[in-house]
Amino acid sequence: MCGIIAAASYRNVGELLVEGLHKMEYRGYDSAGLALHQEKNIAHLRALGKVSLLEEKLKLANPSSTLGIAHTRWATHGEPSEKNAHPHSSKNNIYVVHNGIIENHITLKETLKKEGFKFSSQTDTEVISHSIQFYMEKGKDLDSAVISTIAKLKGAYALGILDKNNPDTLIGVRQQSPLVIGEGFEEQFIASDIMALSN
Ligand code: GLU
Repeated sequence: MCGIIAAASYRNVGELLVEGLHKMEYRGYDSAGLALHQEKNIAHLRALGKVSLLEEKLKLANPSSTLGIAHTRWATHGEPSEKNAHPHSSKNNIYVVHNGIIENHITLKETLKKEGFKFSSQTDTEVISHSIQFYMEKGKDLDSAVISTIAKLKGAYALGILDKNNPDTLIGVRQQSPLVIGEGFEEQFIASDIMALSN
């Protein structure tokens, strides 16, 4: 299990998030990734290996965003690979970073597959993004879809969640896994480790 960091700010957050990931490097990790909200789009970048490789991708893409989630992964389900790196998305709409283990992911995956959801990773995490999307397609708003989803999860999780259609909302959730909240002036952060917010 490694770390998440997310920010809702008035500043461009891409570099801030990568800086936070660097601060959590001491915990160990096998991949890194981030999702940045860009009003109508989400920039989704992932890299196998070092945070600095993600940083290079960020510099090349140079997205501007004030709302984002980021992750360093310590694989528990599914090999270390770019496909298994977080954030995981459902239909390029809901994006999730997860620190922890979903114990009942196999049962949840079967149910979601029957509902037509296609899985692109081997992780336990991907059931979370698809489940939120599932409830939203049933007419729930983002908050209610997240609440319905976490009611189904067994295990440990700290989550950062973005929705393409909610450009003003960052959701943080925790159960057993650690998650701290950082309050700034007109900006807010969540992170697995207070170290990630030290700057
Ligand atoms: N269980 C998730 C995975 O294997 C999250 C691991 C973590 O906490 O980094 O992708």
